[in-house]
Amino acid sequence: MTPERYEKIRRVLSRRQPTLSVLMDEVNKPHNFSAILRTCDAVGVLTAHAVPPKSGALPTFDATSGSAHKWVAVRKHPDAVTAVRELQAGGVQVLATHLSQRSVDYREPNYTRPTCVLLGAEKWGVSDEAAALADANIVIPMFGMVQSLNVSVAAATILFEAQRQRLAAGMYEAPQLPPDKLDRLAFEWAYPDLAPGYRERGEPYPVLDERGQIIR
Ligand code: SAM
Repeated sequence: MTPERYEKIRRVLSRRQPTLSVLMDEVNKPHNFSAILRTCDAVGVLTAHAVPPKSGALPTFDATSGSAHKWVAVRKHPDAVTAVRELQAGGVQVLATHLSQRSVDYREPNYTRPTCVLLGAEKWGVSDEAAALADANIVIPMFGMVQSLNVSVAAATILFEAQRQRLAAGMYEAPQLPPDKLDRLAFEWAYPDLAPGYRERGEPYPVLDERGQIIR
């Protein structure tokens, strides 16, 4: 671990936005899944949520991720409705990317609030049931011949609007993560081979100095 690498890890973690996430509902193409995670990393999403496609497993990561899967945790859910309810119970507004009577332009919502953007499967989109449950339905206006965007393009468009609003609100200036969580994640990112052993043994992570070296 070089001091420069450790400094970068802490800088990235100090800009993570634990109150911004996506929920991928059966996004099944690996290149889309990976591209969405890469955008999540760029915008500062800490944890992405995903409902695996009916085939069972989450899509495997491909080169499109640029290793983003190492820096963005993915939490699995059994289905979109359960996930939306759980997020809302935790005080998160869920914005479903869905065309309906109540859809609004994706730039209208306040993304400085705890927010999760619900993204649909490539073929079917977001289910009517999950969209009805969501706090709002949002769309990116389309003026062309084609009806929809690629899901990873839609995700990037919306997440960078969230980033724009959060930058304006100063949300990248001070860490959004509590200090103890930031320290824990810094150890896990800096020492990915050692961290699982400490967890398995139930031991606290070692203390690191400001250069990222283990001191005790
Ligand atoms: N036939 C599907 C439908 O009717 O919803 C098309 C799904 S689209 C290819 C896949 C996903 O990309 C959508 O579920 C949504 O998450 C996102 N998406 C695509 N175009 C969008 C747009 N104009 N506004 C918001 N989200 C969009």
